[in-house]
Amino acid sequence: MTAHVKPKALDDFKARDFRMLIDGMWTDGAGNALERVAPGHGVVVSRYPAGTKADAERAIAAARKAFDDGPWPRMTGAERSNILLKAADLIAAKADELAFLDCIESGKPISQAKGELGGAADIWRYAAALARDLHGESYNTLGEGTLGVVLREAIGVVSIITPWNFPFLIVSQKLPFALAAGCTTVVKPSELTSGSTLLLGEILIEAGVPAGVVNIVTGTGPEVGAPMTTHPDVDMVSFTGSTGVGRLTMANAAQTLKKVSLELGGKNPQIVFPDANLDEFIDAAVFGAYFNAGECCNAGSRLILHKSIAADVTARVAELAKKVKVGDPLDPTTQVGAIITPQHLAKIGTYVEGAAKAGASVALGGTALDLGLGQFMAPTILSGVKPDMAVAREEVFGPVLSVLTFETTDEAIRIANAIDYGLSAGVWSRDFDTCLTIGRKVRAGTVWMNTFMDGASELPFGGYRQSGLGRELGRHAVEDYTETKTLNMHMGARTGWWMPR
Ligand code: NAD
Repeated sequence: MTAHVKPKALDDFKARDFRMLIDGMWTDGAGNALERVAPGHGVVVSRYPAGTKADAERAIAAARKAFDDGPWPRMTGAERSNILLKAADLIAAKADELAFLDCIESGKPISQAKGELGGAADIWRYAAALARDLHGESYNTLGEGTLGVVLREAIGVVSIITPWNFPFLIVSQKLPFALAAGCTTVVKPSELTSGSTLLLGEILIEAGVPAGVVNIVTGTGPEVGAPMTTHPDVDMVSFTGSTGVGRLTMANAAQTLKKVSLELGGKNPQIVFPDANLDEFIDAAVFGAYFNAGECCNAGSRLILHKSIAADVTARVAELAKKVKVGDPLDPTTQVGAIITPQHLAKIGTYVEGAAKAGASVALGGTALDLGLGQFMAPTILSGVKPDMAVAREEVFGPVLSVLTFETTDEAIRIANAIDYGLSAGVWSRDFDTCLTIGRKVRAGTVWMNTFMDGASELPFGGYRQSGLGRELGRHAVEDYTETKTLNMHMGARTGWWMPR
């Protein structure tokens, strides 16, 4: 184990004091500052205002006014598109600064944070293109006296609530699409990783987004997030986070019947058949399990291996997992960074202990790593996991891979579907029929075939069952932020109802 050396970059680094953005003004808000201790370095790196319910209400009022009276929903698609494109250029220009913030606040490796920023800029460009293409339908087939036109109208004020694991990427999966549709917004980033979202506020002002269109309120979920889900002036809530808070969000929004979009947890299987290209799979298994330290809704946290290859494949995955470089998030060669908080590290440890007590074997890791500062977890493999164990059914959200086995295709599908989640899945086989059968029968929003966790701005993303509601990205993402209105237009004499004509 290497001793941790505080990186030079943080020797000269002074904790950054952020302010919130309400109605185009930067404000400290009414509450005290929230301090963020870097998970990989153990030092305070950011302070954000602890927003209050009153701050959330001021932001909602600003967004309401900007929607009801402001220019944003009334601009042409081309005008909104040009501003979103400018924002994308600024995101690309400031990618290093944004990635640095995401790295030190979340503990993710800097190389990965930079990759996420590249992906985010692409999403803003894609949403900008959709802003010009948003359109409804017309029906000229309803008879000579009738023309039907179906309009897509911006839904109104949208509350956007995001988690800590992909701070800039996830706000970028929501905000540009809401803006493309002509909505106005209140954004609440996670209280653990608010920095890059607040910098985004600066970028959007520079790009020309009018005051009140994007408001960013920092603070805790119960204090700031909850009023964003109940307030009658909010028309829609777009939430990414845990299934528990997602459920609460839906219940809160039900009081005023708001539209709700939820991106929640996952317990994603990778099903592997003996005819698969195992060299390719071994790499994807390690990537799927340990990318972002497993703190990833899409993590391939369940391997479902054909019994005939299980022992060999598990040994090969363990061999490669041993080579994964866990360490200082700011080191450009690090592949797995820190765990978000000490409490979360303890929770991961509890899952591993529980699995061992229930009869699973720890084939690799299983313990925290002491690297000198911050909190880290060793890449872990649990073999002999049974489908009914907690570690096979619940989201651990750490670098813990559970290995299960199957003998028939039907059994593999049964195990894959025997959980409450349905976010994503992978299947590995050289046989097209096998891949397609799994692809059609596994209940998940995305199924990867002979690859894992590839993404594209064009492809919809979201979950079945308790993994969520609605889809992000793709052509329809912008439509999610609209209402549908029917114009039923009549020409000439109507057929009378009261008096026959
Ligand atoms: P979380 O549910 O604890 O918090 C998410 C956000 O909700 C935070 O901003 C938090 O402050 C806020 N919040 C908390 N209580 C609230 C309340 N009562 N009302 C309104 N808002 C409230 O989730 P987390 O720990 O930040 O993130 C990890 C979870 O996110 C995991 O379960 C993961 O699977 C999920 N996630 C899902 C996706 C996806 O696309 N499906 C992507 C990333 C993360």
